[in-house]
Amino acid sequence: MKNVKNVYAAYAKDTELRLNSSSGAMFSLLAMHILSLGGVVYGVKMTDDCYGAEYERVINNEGLKALRGSKYLQAKVGDTFHFVKQDLDNGKVVLFSGTGCFVNGLKLFLRKDYDNLYCMDVVCHGTPSPELWKRYVKYREEQTHSKMIYASFRNKDKHDWNGFEMKEIDENYNEVWISRHSDPYFRMFVKNICLRPSCFSCTAKFLKLSDITVADFWGIDKVAPEMNDNLGVSLVLIRTDKGQQIFDAIQNEIEKKEVSYKDGVSNNKSEFQAYPKPKERDSFFKDMNKMSFEQLSRKYLDIPVWKALGRKIKHIFLEVVL
Ligand SMILES: Cc1cc2nc3c(=O)[nH]c(=O)nc-3n(C[C@H](O)[C@H](O)[C@H](O)COP(=O)(O)OP(=O)(O)OC[C@H]3O[C@@H](n4cnc5c(N)ncnc54)[C@H](O)[C@@H]3O)c2cc1C
Ligand code: SF4
Repeated sequence: MKNVKNVYAAYAKDTELRLNSSSGAMFSLLAMHILSLGGVVYGVKMTDDCYGAEYERVINNEGLKALRGSKYLQAKVGDTFHFVKQDLDNGKVVLFSGTGCFVNGLKLFLRKDYDNLYCMDVVCHGTPSPELWKRYVKYREEQTHSKMIYASFRNKDKHDWNGFEMKEIDENYNEVWISRHSDPYFRMFVKNICLRPSCFSCTAKFLKLSDITVADFWGIDKVAPEMNDNLGVSLVLIRTDKGQQIFDAIQNEIEKKEVSYKDGVSNNKSEFQAYPKPKERDSFFKDMNKMSFEQLSRKYLDIPVWKALGRKIKHIFLEVVL
């Protein structure tokens, strides 16, 4: 067990907050606590054009809405570390959230400890290429003939925490929910063929510089079935005294149960292990630059030929009829 002091299964008592969060809404509660101290929160939101994800500095609860939920692509950091340093030097309390590599990167950039800095990382499977996401959005926009204005990777509108779907909204406010079992982007993500090169030798698996780590508590039914009402349970790993201090500060807002590290991570190897690089990853990226998103899906996701052909025939039929 790495630097972990205590481990919990936990979720927010506020149902609305949980429904809008990927797991048990721990991020939102920790962030709201920091804001209540007059602090600032850094986290990742989708860009306004939906073609990417980027860091945002948030100073009120309204701003947190955009940071809520996992965005399954590598986020742009830009000058964020400089802004964090400025806030810290100005005496602001700061919560910095993100994947383990971003937290470690920030700590290395700062080169000193700040009492007013709290870092929360998320257990991380890996992040897909932002270029692939952009191509996916363009492909969807071609299909719908309209611009995408919203994307949620872990939507719980129609299914529970375990059955989450991708939700997309276009400029005409049409909403669509796509099962993660059929969504080509999500399938490329879980196949690991589109992850960043650093994810296959992720140093954050063994060097964790955050105060607190949060994740989905996959396998909760084996450990604390009484906590699973299907709305989402977080795994919380306390790594430092500061991590314990901010977790203790939200006690009135949560349900929780202390568990062992072994039970906590038994269904979540992303906490301690990087995935091996798939053998098709290199050719996938070469092909990405010359193939359409649909061709790429057909080649790498084993979409049955009849299905691909069916789509083509439907397309030709529509072109002839219209
Ligand atoms: C790319 C990625 C891979 C993940 N892989 C796993 C996994 O394998 N196993 C697991 O148990 N949990 C994984 N998680 C974590 C999980 O999905 C939830 O983010 C976590 O449980 C926190 O949920 P929440 O309900 O507390 O808050 P939420 O509101 O759902 O969490 C939002 C937080 O995620 C951060 N965030 C969102 N997107 C990004 C991004 N692209 N880059 C950096 N930070 C981001 C925000 O800054 C914010 O702090 C992953 C998250 C991401 C972003
Ligand atoms: S797997 Fe590691 S390197 Fe890749 S995004 Fe996650 S924390 Fe960063």
